[in-house]
Amino acid sequence: AKVAGKNCYRYYSRAMDHAVERRVHMEQELRGAWERGELRLVYQPIFRTRDRRMVGVEVLLRWQHPTLGTIPPSVFIEVAEQSGLIEVIGPKVLRAACMEAVQWPHSVDGEGMFVSVNVSPRQLRGGELPALVADCLRDTGLPASRLHLELTETAVIGDEMLAAALLDKLHRTGVKVWLDDFGTGFSGLSHLRQVPVDGVKIDKSFVADMQRDPDDLALTTAIIAMAHALGITVVAEGIEQEVQFDLLSQRGCDLAQGYWLSVPITATEVVEMIESGR
Ligand code: C2E
Ligand code: CA
Ligand code: CA
Ligand code: CA
Repeated sequence: AKVAGKNCYRYYSRAMDHAVERRVHMEQELRGAWERGELRLVYQPIFRTRDRRMVGVEVLLRWQHPTLGTIPPSVFIEVAEQSGLIEVIGPKVLRAACMEAVQWPHSVDGEGMFVSVNVSPRQLRGGELPALVADCLRDTGLPASRLHLELTETAVIGDEMLAAALLDKLHRTGVKVWLDDFGTGFSGLSHLRQVPVDGVKIDKSFVADMQRDPDDLALTTAIIAMAHALGITVVAEGIEQEVQFDLLSQRGCDLAQGYWLSVPITATEVVEMIESGR
């Protein structure tokens, strides 16, 4: 409170300079991070609610920097998106995920696990994604049915004509497309009719409070009912408590993901989990 307005301004401005500097530095560091082996993939298991069997995983990127430490994707993905670096890193993640998944043993009931890869809005520009996906599948031999792509609701809803054409091309490669962070984009359930997706992932912000916030519970219930009416799979993410899992499975939510079920694990641990028949 002792600080005058003018000093305040100078303080903020210096703080802002600092933030910009850090960002530029981070961007420079991120540029060679893949080649230096600092970026690695972890896998968060996704379970069928019906019998709680692991049926697939979501790929999540981690950046282990030698001096900056572990930088979470919530920080560096945004830098990668704004700088355009995601257009270089994204395809590498996709290819690496396919290479890994094709080596996984099948589960006891003979089914291959799916691998779900996040695709940034920027990767949808230019229209190269379907060809990239086809290349990755061909080069690695991963069956298309085992690859899922997670597109954010906002990226897809932005331009529906474009989205419909893109989704159509993606579907022709045989992969499945899920809308990520569903419910946060204000697009409303009616858009599900226009965009041909295979599934929606209920955003973790709705799951977090669903056991005590009647609005969140009502919304989640409505998403599940609506999606099922349209023949779309529903995945819930961010499940941290048993009560959330129970509420979701009572409502027919198909798939479940969250710390209560499993935190993200390494590729080696994925194989161990499949082999132990979980
Ligand atoms: P997302 O796609 O919504 O991924 C789910 C995030 O929630 C992950 O954080 C995951 O670790 C976290 N999570 C999982 N279970 C729980 C839970 O029970 N409670 C809570 N509170 N969180 C949980 P993470 O790994 O930090 O990733 C953050 C975001 O970074 C992702 O959000 C995704 O948007 C982005 N991201 C991560 N990897 C990639 C990637 O390879 N490519 C792109 N384009 N984006 C990525
Ligand atoms: Ca995701
Ligand atoms: Ca999400
Ligand atoms: Ca709420």
